[in-house]
Amino acid sequence: MAEEITARIEELRQQSSTCRRCDLALNRRNVVFGEGNPVTPLVLVGEGPGETEDATGRPFVGRAGALLDEVLRENGMTRKHVFICNVVKCRPTLVEASSVRNRPPTSDEIEACKPWLVSQLDAIKPIVIVCLGATAANVIIHKSFRMTQERGKWFESSFAPHTVATYHPAYVLRLHGEGFQAARASLSEDIAAARRKVIEAKSRPKLSLLDMMET
Ligand code: URA
Repeated sequence: MAEEITARIEELRQQSSTCRRCDLALNRRNVVFGEGNPVTPLVLVGEGPGETEDATGRPFVGRAGALLDEVLRENGMTRKHVFICNVVKCRPTLVEASSVRNRPPTSDEIEACKPWLVSQLDAIKPIVIVCLGATAANVIIHKSFRMTQERGKWFESSFAPHTVATYHPAYVLRLHGEGFQAARASLSEDIAAARRKVIEAKSRPKLSLLDMMET
């Protein structure tokens, strides 16, 4: 089982490396498929690669990634315990005069990339998904997800029985002072809750068909 999941993820990684489903392929340096442990109950999904991710082919390796690693560590985890990926696998950019900036992916780019996300989640079959930011929450939880009202709430999604959204680490890093401290604490608490949810779900005995008929 574990070998099959790993092999399927590697097959998808290979296939996605030459993807031309949308125009983000034109300017990318690397497809950022995702990394971590494919045989995991816990998947984290971000928005899309930034400059450092595009340059290295790895998700969350810039400043936002450093914060994500910190909050994982605070909760007794590393990248070896989880799988980390993004809604879109190539960096969305905005080219202005002489500068190239990150931008959110368009809905067309998200749709074009969705088969990769669906296939990787289908292979991993996580128990818990943490959406990092509203873009991932809109794709995975529901279209009109509002972070201010729904952060930290549990949903059943078509990708996992337990799905939650929290602040994107890059958003947290844009805040200052007490705002930063509060959002950082929420991010860490949501990761802690996700870890607890995995433990809880794993320890709950699975209902057999007979049990379900009797209840
Ligand atoms: N932001 C994201 O959403 N994903 C990354 O991989 C890096 C930054």
